[in-house]
Order: sequence, then C-alpha cells, then structure tokens
Amino acid sequence: LEERARSCLLRHRHRLEQDIKAPYLMDHMISDDVLTMEEEERILVKPNRKDQAAALLELLLRKDNRAYISFYNALVKEAYDDLANLLHGDLPQTSCNQQLNGSTDCFSSYVQTVLSEGGVPQRPVVFVSRPELVNRVREKLYRLQKEAGWVTIFGMAGSGKSVLAAEAVRHHGLIEECFPGGIHWLSIGKLDKPDLLGKIQSLCFRLEQSLDSQSLHRPPNSLDEAKERLRFLVLRKYPRSLLILDDIWDSMVLKAFDIQCRVLLTTRNRSLTDSVSGAKYEVEVESGLDEKKGLEILALYTNTKPQGLPEEARSIVKECKGSPLVVSLIGALLKEKPNRWQYYLSQLRQKKFKRIRKSSSYDYDALDQAMSASIEVLPEEHRELYRDLTVLEKDVKIPAKVLSVLWDLEPEEVEDILEEFANKSLLFVDNHNKPYLYYLHDLQLDFLVEQNRTQLESLHSKVVHQYQEHYRDGPPTSGDEECLYWIRFLTYHMAKANMAQELHSLLFSLDWVKTKAQIMGPAHLISDYMEHGPVLDKENSEVCSHFQEFLSLNGHQLEQRPFPDVVQLALSQPQTSEVYRQALVQAQDRASRG
Ligand code: ADP
Repeated sequence: LEERARSCLLRHRHRLEQDIKAPYLMDHMISDDVLTMEEEERILVKPNRKDQAAALLELLLRKDNRAYISFYNALVKEAYDDLANLLHGDLPQTSCNQQLNGSTDCFSSYVQTVLSEGGVPQRPVVFVSRPELVNRVREKLYRLQKEAGWVTIFGMAGSGKSVLAAEAVRHHGLIEECFPGGIHWLSIGKLDKPDLLGKIQSLCFRLEQSLDSQSLHRPPNSLDEAKERLRFLVLRKYPRSLLILDDIWDSMVLKAFDIQCRVLLTTRNRSLTDSVSGAKYEVEVESGLDEKKGLEILALYTNTKPQGLPEEARSIVKECKGSPLVVSLIGALLKEKPNRWQYYLSQLRQKKFKRIRKSSSYDYDALDQAMSASIEVLPEEHRELYRDLTVLEKDVKIPAKVLSVLWDLEPEEVEDILEEFANKSLLFVDNHNKPYLYYLHDLQLDFLVEQNRTQLESLHSKVVHQYQEHYRDGPPTSGDEECLYWIRFLTYHMAKANMAQELHSLLFSLDWVKTKAQIMGPAHLISDYMEHGPVLDKENSEVCSHFQEFLSLNGHQLEQRPFPDVVQLALSQPQTSEVYRQALVQAQDRASRG
C-alpha cells in the first residue's frame, strides 16, 4: 500500500471502524479479487460489527493499492459517501505493473484514475479477453461522441455483460475522445422506487463532492427532484460523461435517467429502451466463450497451462456451453480443490448448480437463482406458459405454430409472448429460418427440468392432449416445420407422459407408419420402435417385431419418391403379421368403396 493511502487509512481508522458494515464491503472486494473467501471468513467470525470492521481495516493495511481502491469503490457502492470522500484524496494511481491478471494490456494511470473514480469495477483476476465483443461495444460507444444516447448490452444471466461493459471503457482513446467528462458506474439490479432514489442520491452526492468537497446540498427527496438534479449536474458540470447502469430490470429505472445523457446499460431484457428517447444502439452477447477461452479460464484458476489440463476440462466447458459465469464458478472451486475435476464435472452433469457458488458479491447465489429471478418478473400467466417449455428436447428448435397448439392461442399472440421471452433472454430466436424458430439454452432447460421435476409427466401429457385436440382428424401431413415437429416428437412426449396406451396405438398403426415414413423416411420409425419397444408391454413385443421386420425389409422402398403404396407393400408380409392384418382391413375397405 502506498504511503499516502496507508496514512489516510490510519488517520480515519476510528471513524471507519465506527461506521462501516464489513460484510457488505467485503462482497465487493471479493468480487474485485482483492480479498479471498478465507480472509472473509476470518473476519466474519469476529463477534460484532465493530470488531469485524477493525479486522477488515487491519487486513487492508497489509494489502496493496488495488485493495485500497476496491475498498474505496465498495464504500461508494454501499453509499458511505462521506467516508469514501475521506479516502478519495489519497487514492493511489495504479499503473500496469500492478495488474495481477496476467494480461498484457497496459492502461495509462489516466484511464485507471478515471475508472476508479467512477466506481467502474476492475477486471476479474481471472480474465480472458473477448476482443470481438469488446470492439463491438466500443464501436457503439463511439457513436455517442457527438450526441446523447443509449447503448444496451443485452444477454442472458452470467454471459459476462458487466465484465464486458467495464472492459469496453478501459480505453484511453475512447475516454479522451468521447467521455472526457468521466465514467460513472452505477450497479442497479432489481430495486423499487425508494432504492432507486437512494442510488441517484448517492450518484449526485458523488458528482457534487468531486466538484467541491465543501458544498453541502440537501439530497433530492423525490425521484423527480433527483432526476432534475442529475440533469443539471450532467449537463452543466459533467458534459460528455458516460453513465454505466449495470443490470437493469425495469424501464422505470431508465426513465429516471432519460435526461439527454450518454448511457451504457447491461440487461437481460432487450426492449427496455423502447420507453426512453434518443439514439439507441445494441450489442447482443449471444453465446458463451469458445473452447479455447473456456479452457484458458480453467487453466488460469488452476495455475496450469491449457495443454496440461485434464480431459474433464474440455467436458466442463462443453457441458455449460462456455458460460463465463459457470466456467468461472467451477474454476474458482477447482482452485481450492484441485483434484476434484471429475467430481465437479459430474455435479455439473447432474445439474447440482446450488453447490456451485459464485463469489458472494454476485446478486444471486447461483445460476438457478439468476434464472428464477428472470422468470419471476414475468406476468403470472406467462410464467405458466414458460413452464410448458420444460418438455422440449435439448437443441430442438420449434416454430411458433407448435406452441400455438400447445398453448391454444392464436399464432400472433404466441409470437408476441415469445418475443417477450426472447427480450428477457429466457429464450432464443433463430431468425435465419422462415418461419422463425425458437429454442432454449441448455442450461435453461436443465433449470426448468430441475424446477418442475415433479410435474414432468403432466407437462408432457398436456402436449399430447393439446395435439390430440387440435389434430382430431388425423396428423398434419404438410411437411412444414410444424408438421415435422409433431411427426418427430409426438412419440417422445407420449413416452415421457407414460401414456403407454396412446403410444401403442400410434406406433402400431399402419396409417402412422405411412405418414411418418413419407415425411421423415423409415429410419426415424425404426428408431422409435427400438426406443419405445421396452416401454410397451411384453405381449406387444411380437407386434413390435412385426413392424420392425416390415420396415427393415421395405426400408429402401419407403425412401423412394413417388412414395410407394404402403398397403400393397404390407400385404406381402406373412399372414400372421399384424402389419398384414391391418393392410388387409384397409384393402378390403378400399375394395368395398370401389
Ligand atoms: P452478467 O453481467 O452477464 O450477469 P458478469 O459480467 O457479471 O455477467 O459475469 C459473470 C461472471 O463470469 C463474472 O463474475 C466472471 O467470473 C465471469 N466472467 C465474465 N466475463 C469474463 C471474462 N471475460 N473472463 C473471465 N471471466 C469472466
């Protein structure tokens, strides 16, 4: 720790010990990686608030400049503005040789000062660059050079939006050319109006203090007043500054900042800026890290070379689709327990996310909580519709029309709802296809299955019933995406719903065989018999083998176009075969109708 900073801490030690609540501050410091979980624990065992505070300060005095800056930022974030102010004058100027994250970037102390004054979080200690994404954000931020406006970073929980936002502004040229008025970070999260007011109050306080630490303004005491105060400060005192609003849930929040300023925001809900005015730009964080980057994180955590990682490493990255959050969670665990690769991989495979705790400063303990928070903000009736998606197979994309059958809603209505889900990162859209296809992230499906474990059967049977209701007169035969879905997955839903009777009459019906073979070819049918054969009763095993025989003998015929007459083919089966029996009935039926 620099001498100045050290002396400052010592001078104000008494005051700090009196006031601070160490646990809250430590959350931020862990997140900045200047404090370990063990250190936190050692402080938390102290009997009371004051002893904890004293222990934290004691520890801080033995740490480096980054720790001091992180502590300062934590005070700001927790709205201890007057205390933060005491430390402000002695903030050390960190330079690149103090970057601990192994990165080769070197930022000027100018950048470092601007960012730490604005409370922009530092890089996580284990950090990998995502140059393509960072550049996209910077490119949008450059558009705010001449005019006010909004840049939204949008993506699902844990996709690295906040890290990306902080990284994007860590750039000398960008700050100098576009935001010479400074960069001000505000962590928002889910909050109500009074909390929001508190946040804006402390932002105003921060801005006013840095101008003139003597001035004492009464804090604004309504949202409207706060908005006006902020408007004044930004327009008059901090022109060309950037506000970063992290993790926004509600457009009510954005309205409070709709004051013709420059804003970068992160959110899971794409459509938030619809309700505010000005230029708007968007960057989507669609996918996770690629394998190389994912492995890099694990290697950094475990202090090995990527080539030296055990084979489970690759599976871990693959299993969570490169989610930076999950890879980091597991990396952090492995750092403590380096011989648990196999164990954590199997935990991940069994979706035991609860065990995988992120550093305590994340707003939600674990990924599943992040997901449920996203779901909670849906209106009640949409929450139920979302739950219906539990039954989808992984990596299967479906058109809106399938859901229109499942939900019994008009296709237009369905599209609106799906758009809402997509805007909240609860669902993804493949718009390279017409009609659009919708799908869930694997982790989302895992989450849904975990959450609705006891209702799986009834959710699947709902699918089957809705299908039966809608296609009373026979299966769809159009060959479009919707038809393909049903022909492909109806048996799957029946099996999962434990509807042996329905499955039986479908699989052992020559009509179904004809329809499915015509649309999808015989291979899928054969695999249906293999897959579901064991589910059906023993007594059916003979019938099952009749159908399998028929298909394997005639497979090549069923691939021909024009499609052959299935009844004719079936009539050449042995007379003892169920396939023959059904064909005969149909042939007689045809004959009698002439
Ligand atoms: P979001 O804001 O999208 O919810 P965060 O930016 O908070 O996600 O990232 C979640 C976690 O993922 C971070 O705390 C960090 O551990 C990890 N992470 C994100 N981006 C990176 C990165 N570029 N390098 C290393 N870890 C990252």
